[in-house]
Amino acid sequence: MAPSVAIIGAGFGGLCMGIQLQKAGITSYTIFEKAGGVGGTWRANTYPGAACDVPSHLYSYSFEQRHDWTRRFPAQREILAYLEGCADKYGLRPHLRLNTEVTAAAFDESVNRWRLTTSDGGEELFDVVVSGVGQLNRPRLPDIPGVDAYEGTAFHSARWNHGHELTGRRVAVIGNGSSAAQIIPRVAPVVDHLDVYQRTPSWVIPKVNGEYGRSERLAFRYVPFLQAANRERIYRVIEGLVYPVLVGGWSRRMVTRRAQEHLRQQVGDPGLRAKLTPAYPIGCKRIVIDSDFYPALTRPNVELVTDPIARLVPKGVETADGVTREADTLIYATGFHTTDFLAPIEITGRAGRRLHEIWKDGAEAYLGVAVPHFPNLFLLYGPNTNLGHNSIILMIEAQVRYIMGCLPLLSARGPMEVRQAALDGWRRALDRAMARTVWQASCHSWYKNAAGRVTNNWPGPTTLYRRITRAPRPDAYRFG
Ligand code: NAP
Repeated sequence: MAPSVAIIGAGFGGLCMGIQLQKAGITSYTIFEKAGGVGGTWRANTYPGAACDVPSHLYSYSFEQRHDWTRRFPAQREILAYLEGCADKYGLRPHLRLNTEVTAAAFDESVNRWRLTTSDGGEELFDVVVSGVGQLNRPRLPDIPGVDAYEGTAFHSARWNHGHELTGRRVAVIGNGSSAAQIIPRVAPVVDHLDVYQRTPSWVIPKVNGEYGRSERLAFRYVPFLQAANRERIYRVIEGLVYPVLVGGWSRRMVTRRAQEHLRQQVGDPGLRAKLTPAYPIGCKRIVIDSDFYPALTRPNVELVTDPIARLVPKGVETADGVTREADTLIYATGFHTTDFLAPIEITGRAGRRLHEIWKDGAEAYLGVAVPHFPNLFLLYGPNTNLGHNSIILMIEAQVRYIMGCLPLLSARGPMEVRQAALDGWRRALDRAMARTVWQASCHSWYKNAAGRVTNNWPGPTTLYRRITRAPRPDAYRFG
């Protein structure tokens, strides 16, 4: 009999898992989703300008290619529609449990099954749990004094307040990562005044976007192999050009120069340019890929504030030099809690071992997928599987294929638990590869935990990760 599978999250990861189960004829699965619909991060992030900076033809499942993407880089709405379409096409809807947050999962050794507790107080048993909760789903508010004192309207980029009209307002944006870089160009033209509070400048490279014309879309549809060849070309170019940037390879200087040139071309004022010039190597933090960000900062109604924020006051933001800038609207583009993976779900494995206790010095998992003491628990987009250079969908598909390969093993031999020795070997290999990466340089990034360990990113090429996850090695696990 097929194992029963609980999937947590209905984003790219959870849906991919559901689709592959469905394709394999396994229908004994439930997808739990705390939101009211599918889409994960692409449902949550509805801020103006929300879009992906990985090309459409690559930022989609390999098995579900669309010929009719309207733009080279997809907007949030189009990605969400794509995922909704996948849920329909593959018959996932009857398996979705929406508005249902999993609050706890405990491995019950008396029956060798996982007991899931949900926010509605329900409890259910499953043979297997697959987490697809992502790394960027819990908004992080800045740790600055006075957050509660502020009297204007404040919201996080991933919790956009669409009921709040921005026209004619005095607005402050805190942060200048990928989210802020998309928000600022959309907000700046409509507001009266915009202050952008920058703690650290980002490296920015241009995004050469554009619409796919009718003829191009028809060609993708009807010319044999064109779509597949195009996807493969995009993949190879990104892998071949951007991955070396992260490990000090051939293209590091070239891409750095391109970013410097982009800044020079778009920002004429040397003072503003100096403020926007990073002092850390490119790639250490997530590179911002955008062509509209710098021009927005040069608008007369926009001020880039680089004095550190001292505190929020009821009417605005006070910086360390004692200046208060009034703002009736405050937008936190301050990122996410990225390093406390799977929080706040309480996960308990064999002998009462608590996942978050085991991970208190940094999350880690064999292949980013399996953790000792937690049999039949598998992670999608888990520790050390984020990318700094390519489409995360590639990693998710590799992980789903791997987990699908585990199902016959655990059905035949009983619950499978990765051996500590396998995880130790994985950690040693990761550490060796990580030492070569630019993420180790001195910059603050969401890839690192409080102790400075890079817990989020995969340090190798995606080709290697896809190869080593092609099929599970039974000797890495104990069964029963
Ligand atoms: P982020 O990259 O973590 O950026 C957060 C920003 O907030 C940083 O500029 C950070 O400054 C600033 N910040 C945080 N706390 C602060 C404080 N106390 N005072 C002042 N500034 C503070 O978050 P994000 O922009 O939401 O992006 C997260 C990730 O989502 C991206 O890296 C990317 O992987 C993904 N994403 C992708 C796209 C896309 O495809 N285009 C768009 C949006 C998001 P510091 O740098 O000094 O820490």
